[in-house]
Amino acid sequence: MGKALIIGAGGVASVVVHKCCQNPDVFEEICIASRTVEKCEALKKKLDGGRTKIQTARVDADNTEEVIQLIKSFGPDVVINVALPYQDLTIMDACLATGVHYLDTANYEPPETAKFEYSWQWAYKKKFEEAGIMAVLGCGFDPGVTGVFSAYALKHYFDEIHTIDIVDANAGDHGYPFATNFNPEINIREITANGRYYENGEWIETPPLSEKKVYDLPEIGPKDIYLLYHEELESLAKNITGIKKIRFWMTFSQNYLTHLKVLENVGMTSIEPIVFEGKEIIPLQFLKAVLPDPASLGPRTKGKTNIGIIAQGTKDGEPKNYYVYNVCDHQECYREVGSQAISYTTGVPAMIGAMLMIKGTWMKPGVYNVEELDPDPFMELLNTKGLPWQEDFSPTLLD
Ligand code: NDP
Repeated sequence: MGKALIIGAGGVASVVVHKCCQNPDVFEEICIASRTVEKCEALKKKLDGGRTKIQTARVDADNTEEVIQLIKSFGPDVVINVALPYQDLTIMDACLATGVHYLDTANYEPPETAKFEYSWQWAYKKKFEEAGIMAVLGCGFDPGVTGVFSAYALKHYFDEIHTIDIVDANAGDHGYPFATNFNPEINIREITANGRYYENGEWIETPPLSEKKVYDLPEIGPKDIYLLYHEELESLAKNITGIKKIRFWMTFSQNYLTHLKVLENVGMTSIEPIVFEGKEIIPLQFLKAVLPDPASLGPRTKGKTNIGIIAQGTKDGEPKNYYVYNVCDHQECYREVGSQAISYTTGVPAMIGAMLMIKGTWMKPGVYNVEELDPDPFMELLNTKGLPWQEDFSPTLLD
């Protein structure tokens, strides 16, 4: 049926590649392209021989011209960008130049500042409309499934949603004193930034990790959750009509936070360049180089993740509460695709989004966040492609 160009060959890309190969009727051909071609070749070696034909290529996705040449030579229907957020705009430019659809899992980030905002990518809306191509932004789990969950709640259970709390819990244990579950640079930038949430039309800032609650999560138990800013808050505050308050919460263990505090205090999480032995380095990038590679955590991680949204609002004039969540087991993911649950919960939705685009189910020119698209076909595929969800109509609320 279709061809996908997958850019990136890290933890998330590996899951996308496995899941595309599990669905050869849709993904007849894929090309895995990344900066380090050996990683693409290693993935091909693992999965070759099935019905999905696999090619590999070396590409520096910071260079639009290189991406254009690759798209022209492979001829994909869609580009799945699972490289880093820094490459979003160059890849979108290449898609515009070649008339190919685009999907990613993280908003564009300028390398020199941590912003977590969609403004740069939303500015492409008109250009994508005029070119007759589609971009789906933030199609991982959070952002991604959390937006689909929100759209599904609004479509089926509410007339108005007033409050959304996104709760992202990882109760996995990899046995290292300190490691991040996905790209350490992106992860640490996210956590060390100020917290922020939306209430009554305003954004309220909180010092990093200063707001804490304990929440008892299904299949995981009580956990400390901390308020963070997360990029889907921006698009959900805009796209979920009637919303008055939206917050994002993530679990961290005391051990993780102690390590992070020390690293921060000694300057290792900074993105300001410093000169070391005559060479300019960015401390956070150096830290990334000494931390365990997230892709290596797969075989060691035990336990589950639980990510969901708690929505409060009204239906037929009556107050209504709703919790929808997915529980994912690290070891089951590892058995299936050789990755831990963080990469799995990101890669599966990216594959589903691309599948819906190739099938034409999600297809309209322009630039969209997932909650702007019909949630129903996506929710069905979550259940059948590895991320089944559960509902609770009388959840414990956070306040
Ligand atoms: P990794 O660091 O494991 O992998 C990133 C890959 O991108 C590597 O293969 C890297 O190549 C490649 N890459 C980096 N720069 C370039 C470039 N200039 N040109 C070509 N390839 C490049 O990251 P993850 O797999 O953990 O994360 C991938 C994406 O998913 C990130 O954007 C992350 O923010 C996002 N994410 C989204 C989540 C969600 O729920 N929405 C959750 C988790 C992650 P090399 O091997 O040479 O370094």
